[in-house]
Amino acid sequence: MSVILESIGRRPSHTKIVATVGPACEGVDKLSELIVAGVDVFRINTAHGSRQDHEQMLGQVREASRRAAMPIAVLADLAGPKIRLGELPGGSQSLTVGDRVRFVPGETPSSPGEWTTTYAPLVDELRPGDRVVLADGMASLIVEEVAQGGAVCRVVQSGVVRTRQGVNLPGVKLSVPAMNERDRANAAWAASQGVDFVGLSFVRSAADIEELRTLLRQHNAETQIIAKIEKPEAVENLDSLIAAADAIMVARGDLGVEIDIARVPMVQKQIIRACRRARKPVIVATQMLDSMHHSRLPTRAEATDVANAILDGADACMLSGETAIGEYPKEAVEMMHRIALATEQEALIQPGPMEPNVAGELVHPITEATVFSAGHIARQVGAKLIVVASTSGRTAASISQYHHGVPVIGVSPNEAALRRMCLYWGVIPVAGAPTEDDGQLLKWIVQRGLASGLLSGGDRIVLISSVGGAPSRHNAIIVHQVP
Ligand code: PEP
Repeated sequence: MSVILESIGRRPSHTKIVATVGPACEGVDKLSELIVAGVDVFRINTAHGSRQDHEQMLGQVREASRRAAMPIAVLADLAGPKIRLGELPGGSQSLTVGDRVRFVPGETPSSPGEWTTTYAPLVDELRPGDRVVLADGMASLIVEEVAQGGAVCRVVQSGVVRTRQGVNLPGVKLSVPAMNERDRANAAWAASQGVDFVGLSFVRSAADIEELRTLLRQHNAETQIIAKIEKPEAVENLDSLIAAADAIMVARGDLGVEIDIARVPMVQKQIIRACRRARKPVIVATQMLDSMHHSRLPTRAEATDVANAILDGADACMLSGETAIGEYPKEAVEMMHRIALATEQEALIQPGPMEPNVAGELVHPITEATVFSAGHIARQVGAKLIVVASTSGRTAASISQYHHGVPVIGVSPNEAALRRMCLYWGVIPVAGAPTEDDGQLLKWIVQRGLASGLLSGGDRIVLISSVGGAPSRHNAIIVHQVP
């Protein structure tokens, strides 16, 4: 807490910021700048780079977190079954409406009009009439004929495509597995390194998530799963996916290709609503401040997009190319942070669920009822802070989901739990607190709060506590007034 205000010199937003690591922010110094600017979670996109690159990124993030003395989480994003074009002659090809190309199996096409992909059975699974979208919608094709080991497609939308660009098949149900060998190896690596979150791309059913969960368990990892919603099947199976995952990402890049782009805004709202109902954190991703790849300022529409995602109830917003390959990574994070603060300050905080979820899915029903009530008490007495000691981080996750709007200081003896809190809306993880004794903890918080100017005499703090020997159960609320 004091660290945030004294050395970082900024007020944390309730909304969390996820930033993608890449050449534009390589190195501990640049990553440290992004932490100061507002990043809570760094994303390593395993679709790009080698294992050595990912290891280097992870090491640099951990060092930057250590230097800032702030817990920072890492999300390793698995590429999933993304189909890509093989080598195109000359590296790229310009397509005009009416042109024809032929997909063939294998790795090497035998003539210039033939294309290969990374998905060997593609030709067997395509049917006449199927739509093939290339390079995130830059060009599209319709399958005309599947015969003699090839699929002939007609160009229906012109564009230039390049080697290894993405191939999406909206509405085509493919038999491709949820994870390929590379994904499995990357997930095992992430688990072995204690990475906090693994993102699973192109999720279709809860079984995809269970498969990854089994793999992570084999490594005894605490790593949590973020399911990326980017397929129509995922939207259809939304509730079961949310139940199976630890958190959700609205992956608007591929989603906007797999479904009609015109539907993306309302599907985003539908996904966020479902996550709020299920009390699972949700990240809104892709093109949030896209023009900041090359500009110091976003467009008005982009600033409004970030604000609207926050108003929809998103727990976190994500930057992709803006921080990975853009010219202004620091400015992009600063801008997202400023939009979050301005939106949270002006808007009525979206109320969370109006009733405690006493089904006991995330935490014990007593804990759930206690954190629900603590938020209400904190608002009634105008508390400056809520403090919660959470061994696994689940109690902090639970209170976060009510979006009470009173900053929550999350403390824990478990470093991994503190890092997970980086994704929880409104929770500020603070390391080094004495968590064993309520009196000591309150004293520690008050001392630091007064020293940093966050607290003054007469301010109130709500401590969510545990009495009667049930350490993993929070069952008491203490309201403390700073003398
Ligand atoms: C997306 O498609 O929006 C996304 C976040 O996934 P990726 O960056 O892996 O394509």
